[in-house]
Amino acid sequence: MLLRSHFAIINGNVCETIKLKKSGGGIQKTMKAKAGTSRSIVYLTAAAVTVILMLLYWANSDSASRSQQKIQRESYRLGTIVRITLYGDDSERLNKAIDLSMKEIERLENLLSVNIPSSDVSRLNSASGDHPVKISEETAFLLEKALEWSERTEGAFDPTIGKIVKLWGIGTERAALPDPEELREAVRLTDFRKISIVHKEDGIFVQTGKGQRIDLGGIAKGYVTDKIKELLIKEGVSSALIDLGGNIAVFGDSPKMGKWKLGIQHPFRPRGEYFGIAEVSDVSVVTSGPYERYFESDGVRYHHIFDPATGYPARSDLASVTVIGADSTDADALSTALFVMGFGKSVSFLKDLKNIDAVLVTEKPEGTIAYVTHKLSGSFILKESDMKKEMISQ
Ligand code: ADP
Ligand code: MG
Repeated sequence: MLLRSHFAIINGNVCETIKLKKSGGGIQKTMKAKAGTSRSIVYLTAAAVTVILMLLYWANSDSASRSQQKIQRESYRLGTIVRITLYGDDSERLNKAIDLSMKEIERLENLLSVNIPSSDVSRLNSASGDHPVKISEETAFLLEKALEWSERTEGAFDPTIGKIVKLWGIGTERAALPDPEELREAVRLTDFRKISIVHKEDGIFVQTGKGQRIDLGGIAKGYVTDKIKELLIKEGVSSALIDLGGNIAVFGDSPKMGKWKLGIQHPFRPRGEYFGIAEVSDVSVVTSGPYERYFESDGVRYHHIFDPATGYPARSDLASVTVIGADSTDADALSTALFVMGFGKSVSFLKDLKNIDAVLVTEKPEGTIAYVTHKLSGSFILKESDMKKEMISQ
């Protein structure tokens, strides 16, 4: 019931070229293949985790205290459905905060989107390494964060991946297998070490390598989530769920006056089916997986998280990665990076990250296993009977 009404809301936000199709309780946006091609493109929405969250969340809210108001707003932004839900007893304050949040998302999208020609990222990409470009402090902060994670993950995360992302066009109507020569060139151009950021008295200037293209798609939603949380706290909001297409942050008490119960999308099941629940408070929860956006060609599935070293969708042995931490920007970059790194590297990488929790889903000969970091173990409840839960010691 609840799931259906949520889908109806998604339906209202979808752009005209995309038809919605329900299948097995899940939802798919199906786009017709271009004339002259035989392949069909299936592009799944990024709202997987969102749907589940709201299901659990609404179930909770039935028992919310009557004096509490719930204000919710949603919109199609940042290439996904963003939804903000606030709780409190001062509806005027909540309404003002939610208005400001929506404006803030729009403002940040205008700085960071690769699809908006006047954005900082597009201006950098137009210069294509020809000359330094002056960018805002916020974009510079995020780019520096992205480069920091590039360094720490030895390039598994790389914001100079833009040429590769563009060649594949996954999530767009022109998604296709790139020309191998062009892809080799795009891989050559993907190198975070070529970016220089100079802080001067008259502003911050960035120069990319010649021909490089920046794409902050793997980290921007996390950053926007953090900014919205900051804004809401400043506006005196004490309980909120921020959901930017599955990039979640919660703070304050849940409507049930306790922890928030967040369902994590089952990587092999239709949208809305979760394999486990994380009981959390005051954190961000971010999931990355190959099932989020992909297209199929000759029976092969090509997804949207790339290995910068090959230019192809990462051939990860992970079915999904969920990262839980205080900072959504970090959780976003990390979920993408861990997926690229694969299970073995991710486990050793997580050992050095004391304040980060994770759930890594992988298939082993003995079945599908959800590996959960030690600290999270007591707050992660496995619901899927076909999966096993194992601990990652940190
Ligand atoms: P989603 O956007 O579905 O939440 P992610 O956070 O994992 O998923 O980000 C995937 C996006 O990040 C891609 O659409 C692309 O824009 C960008 N990207 C893909 N591969 C990489 C990579 N190895 N490093 C940095 N960014 C990447
Ligand atoms: Mg990410």
